[in-house]
Amino acid sequence: MPIIHPLSYRLDLPQHFPQAAPLVLDSPHSGTSYPPDFAPSVDFGALRTAEDTWVDDLWGDAIGLGVPLIAASFPRAYIDANRSAEEVDPLLLDAPWDGPMSDSPKVKLGKGLIWRMLDDGTPLYDRKLSAAEVRHRIDACWKPYHAKLAEVLDQTHAHFGKVWHINCHSMPSVAGAFATDRPGLVHPDFVLGDRDGSTSDPAFREFIAKWLRERGYNVTVNDPYKGVELVRAFGNPAQGRHSLQIEINRKLYMDEVSLRPNEGYAKLKSDLRDLTAALIDWTRAQTA
Ligand SMILES: [Zn+2]
Repeated sequence: MPIIHPLSYRLDLPQHFPQAAPLVLDSPHSGTSYPPDFAPSVDFGALRTAEDTWVDDLWGDAIGLGVPLIAASFPRAYIDANRSAEEVDPLLLDAPWDGPMSDSPKVKLGKGLIWRMLDDGTPLYDRKLSAAEVRHRIDACWKPYHAKLAEVLDQTHAHFGKVWHINCHSMPSVAGAFATDRPGLVHPDFVLGDRDGSTSDPAFREFIAKWLRERGYNVTVNDPYKGVELVRAFGNPAQGRHSLQIEINRKLYMDEVSLRPNEGYAKLKSDLRDLTAALIDWTRAQTA
């Protein structure tokens, strides 16, 4: 039975927990439950382009293989689980923020904890948000997600002495005008990010890159995406905590306008199942 937090996440634990291998997956951007208090000013279709639609399902076979998977239920456009709670954008607020704030490049792009604009530059709101609204999104969605992911990683680490964490994402086939600092960039099939080796032993990404390349995928490492807040927060290779971000090109599995699965969906899902099985063996061997 999944553990469901009504506003924040769904956690699928395998039948036996602690699980058979020190591997944990999280999908922070695949949530599609749009809260009624959101009130953005853009149409729903445009809003949904912020999602990593289907990513939790694409990796979902991991659960049956014995790997925990936590997925956010709230949408990324409402509050971004892959940001620090301090990345509050002052331009969105109707009054000064009373908590700590960090002036990150993501906030400057309009893509802080709560986004000011979509990837194409469309403003998300025609109003300012109140501090109470922002606080509610942090408390109801962001905090429970981070706390539960931390708990599962800690329990796994306590049992095995090490843990490998995959932070699962997807990316458009071409970067939007305001999505990153490299607009218009054509993306490869997969981008693996461990913040230049600081959130994971490079052996983890190298095993995955080699495995994917042998299946015919093109893979880049830490370029153009190095990984953001979740791998930064939870990766600590010196303590045996390895966190890696995996970005999958959306054209491999869905129509990027309708968001419907395409003819490649089943093949990709099957490959991710095989990759997960290979990682179960690999992570177990690292702790043997
Ligand atoms: Zn994502």
